[in-house]
Amino acid sequence: MQVFVDPNSGFCGGVVKAVKTAEKEIAGQDQLYCLGEIVHNQAEVARLTERGIIFISHDDLKSIRNAKVLVRAHGEPPETYQLAKQNNIELIDATCKVVQRLQRKVGKAAEEIKKVNGQIVIFGKTKHPEVLGLMGQSCVEVVILEKEGDIRKIDFTRPIRLFSQTTMSMLKFEEIKLLIQSKLNESQRNDKYFFEATNSVCKQVSKREEKLVFFARSHDVIVFVGGQNSSNAKFLFGICKEHNAKSYFVANETEIQKSWFEGADLVGVSGATSTPQWLMNEVAEKIKTL
Ligand code: SF4
Repeated sequence: MQVFVDPNSGFCGGVVKAVKTAEKEIAGQDQLYCLGEIVHNQAEVARLTERGIIFISHDDLKSIRNAKVLVRAHGEPPETYQLAKQNNIELIDATCKVVQRLQRKVGKAAEEIKKVNGQIVIFGKTKHPEVLGLMGQSCVEVVILEKEGDIRKIDFTRPIRLFSQTTMSMLKFEEIKLLIQSKLNESQRNDKYFFEATNSVCKQVSKREEKLVFFARSHDVIVFVGGQNSSNAKFLFGICKEHNAKSYFVANETEIQKSWFEGADLVGVSGATSTPQWLMNEVAEKIKTL
């Protein structure tokens, strides 16, 4: 049995930068605060906790003074920067450049659409930190769409600017865009200015969708490594399962079951944008010993 780790899986560029920044900062001091989990992966959070990084909530931040706090790749709303300034907190900003650009676009679109009583619509997870950061940029109402059915929350009598959380499915974003467009066509509000959609799904994520289909199909068994709280892991695992029924989700090597590999020649190990390379390697090594 041969075991291959998917070369297109693991941390995205934004997460690599955030983890490197955290490691560099902690090297010169005993402790460093990080606002929220640096990645949605318990094993990586545990590894960095051992190095001295203390993960705090937004509530915890309110009582911290005179300290350094890391902002992770997902970014933060403007209120976090204001609070930090008030409390003499130095923010080490590891917001992904792609997310920063998107924040600026949402802010600018909101300013413009405000003049015509419009609304910002974001395809994403309601409580996802990146979405909360994007909402904070807007000076107008923001409607969040988690699924197609949520488009009923949109006021179709008012102009719309549509964006996506960076880790959503490109395909689903296009479906949502078409649905909104067809609703507007029905009500004959179909001029260009009324509805504008910005496809802000991260290219690193969308390219993985296609490559993962091929990877899932070309192996007998897929072991997908991810955190239970990672939306990207759930989404990418769904793709594996759709294209290879023998796909299994694990958080780490202790969850692997020998029976999964009966009769298998080729085993593929893949992971989400929040799954560290070392964890996928550990899983692959464990499978080789079975
Ligand atoms: S998925 Fe893309 S946008 Fe999001 S943190 Fe990673 S590189 Fe940045």
